[in-house]
Amino acid sequence: MTAPARKLFVTTALPYANAPFHIGHMMEYIQADVWVRLQRMRGHELHFVCADDAHGAPIMIAAEKAGLSAQDFVARIAAGRRQYLDGFHISFDNWHSTDGPENHELAQSIYLGLRKQGLIGERVIEQFYDPVKGMFLPDRYIKGECPRCGAADQYGDSCEVCGAVYAPTELKNPYSALSGATPERRRSAHHFFLLSSQRCIDFLQEWTAVPGRLQPEVLNKIREWFTPDETGRVTLADWDISRDAPYFGIRIPDTEDKYFYVWLDAPVGYLASLKNRFGKLGLDYEAYVADPAVEQVHFIGKDIVYFHTLFWPAMLHFSGRKTPDHVFVHGFITVSGEKMSKSRGTGISPLRYLELGLDAEWLRYYIAAKLNARVEDIDFNPDDFVARVNADLVGKYVNIASRAAGFLAKRFGGRVSDDVGVEGRALLDALRGASEPVAELYEAREYGKALREIMALADRVNAYVDQHKPWELARQEGQDAALHDVCSTCIEAFRLLTIYLKPVLPALAAKVESFLGVPPLQWADAARGLSHGGPHRIGRYEHLMQRVDPKRLDALFEPPADAAPAEPAAQTLPGGEAIAATIGIDDFAKVDLRIARIVGAERVEGSTKLLRLLLDAGETGADGAPRLRQVFSGIASAYAPEQLAGKLTVLVANLAPRKMKFGLSEGMVLAASHADEKASPGIYLLEPWPGATPGLRVR
Ligand SMILES: [Zn+2]
Repeated sequence: MTAPARKLFVTTALPYANAPFHIGHMMEYIQADVWVRLQRMRGHELHFVCADDAHGAPIMIAAEKAGLSAQDFVARIAAGRRQYLDGFHISFDNWHSTDGPENHELAQSIYLGLRKQGLIGERVIEQFYDPVKGMFLPDRYIKGECPRCGAADQYGDSCEVCGAVYAPTELKNPYSALSGATPERRRSAHHFFLLSSQRCIDFLQEWTAVPGRLQPEVLNKIREWFTPDETGRVTLADWDISRDAPYFGIRIPDTEDKYFYVWLDAPVGYLASLKNRFGKLGLDYEAYVADPAVEQVHFIGKDIVYFHTLFWPAMLHFSGRKTPDHVFVHGFITVSGEKMSKSRGTGISPLRYLELGLDAEWLRYYIAAKLNARVEDIDFNPDDFVARVNADLVGKYVNIASRAAGFLAKRFGGRVSDDVGVEGRALLDALRGASEPVAELYEAREYGKALREIMALADRVNAYVDQHKPWELARQEGQDAALHDVCSTCIEAFRLLTIYLKPVLPALAAKVESFLGVPPLQWADAARGLSHGGPHRIGRYEHLMQRVDPKRLDALFEPPADAAPAEPAAQTLPGGEAIAATIGIDDFAKVDLRIARIVGAERVEGSTKLLRLLLDAGETGADGAPRLRQVFSGIASAYAPEQLAGKLTVLVANLAPRKMKFGLSEGMVLAASHADEKASPGIYLLEPWPGATPGLRVR
């Protein structure tokens, strides 16, 4: 009855390691995670891996700006990933980096394989070169005047004012966005993957046409690329896979100063992460990737179809490797109908969602309810979110358990009856019969349909409860057996619905398993009753899930003052607290910070924490004499008074004076400390660089 276990190798697209995750990443991870969890529940053998996409010019440039090495910059971003993945219950088996040794080795090996096949060519191309930075400029770092409308400060590929599309060499008065220098045109030899070769075209036409491999709308798109020209020829352009030093990437074998273009080594990161996992587990990677029974599945967004359906399978095939079995493409997520934009901010920050204490499984459920197998955009609509979570998830499903658990505990010692009468049995048989159809919907990534099906089953259970009214049976004499039947039916129905929802709601399912007193639910458990191993007692019912309070959701949408995307640094929090909500420059300007000299410091009698500081911020009183300020500062544990006299520091000069037990405090000095003093004691007073003088404003 059970089919043999499948061997599945599943990935999501590798996120570019120049920024924290946005809601679009979380949608993809949730889509893949639901699918993966279904497969695990069905007993299949599976490796679900991902990695940071670490290379390329944007990261190299961002790292330089941040004053970090590219490796440190990427490590900082990578350190921030876990809180999102754990927070939303994304169950990757491995997370790696495309800068890992496995990826260097695999990318070079694939390149050498292609070269051996005669599919690598060299060609001299002319490109803009920044003479100040000493590097060739990627298109996005060249700006100038639009060749059509003359608008200033337009990017090298298109005009934001008139929409014209052009080559960077067509810009008028071009300049480097990195240094402002006028770029020179220089020649350099580049390496190309000869995708234009007939061998590649033949292979790709065949590969893409394999039924079930790609979604119909993806296939239609690909057919456009294979449309013959007037002469009846299909052409694909060769792919420029090299970049000149300086570049953060993987060196091309047998060159000194050429690196793989980031998109060459990025998908190789799928294999590198798998290999890294196999290394940790002591498993045979080579045998696994050569095993024809292994199904390789990539979940990706619609913007990177070209890379995954042309370049990637061709790279794998012509270097003697197996190609992907499925590329599952999804659309984008919009928020209240507006398209996500990295530059304009992302609408909903997944981290803010978690920080607000919103339940991660509400979002998993909501996104799953919107997803289907097509390449469609989905919209996050707050009203719809509240309705689906409160009315469906909590109202229809969670409430079933609460309606029955109390009676079972109070009246029957928690024992679930294994013979529930004709009507109860009919209901449960109907629920059990949905096991395969629901699994098939998940398998086909028709999550919305699967959840509708499950909620329709929940409706039937609720109708059964309403018809049999356990609360009335409980008040009637001689109805104990009937009450026991109804409540037992409810609990068994609840268990079945939990099995079906578990791919979407893994944390809730774990709570239910604990309440029911059962081991982790597997898909096959739907065919077995709760009491199949003899009489069963359930545990104490604890509240399983709250309703969404729409007011709490509002806080998620409070627009940031100036929609600036979060800086990478916001994700690593050695200070023990998250970066505060964004403020505008006007808010910051309200705080008047001044350099001040500590002219006196003494202990405060009756306080172990405070020091009394006398500060000179360059002010004079009405009489023309220097005016000193008295400030009480909680730094006594860190500094002896004699260490401080004569030092410069920073004073909040316009803080309202505060009356303290020991006297008036006229401002505040700035010091760094961990949010939790116990976790990390230590207070560090700020001191300006030499040359600053009292009274200078800090801005
Ligand atoms: Zn223009």
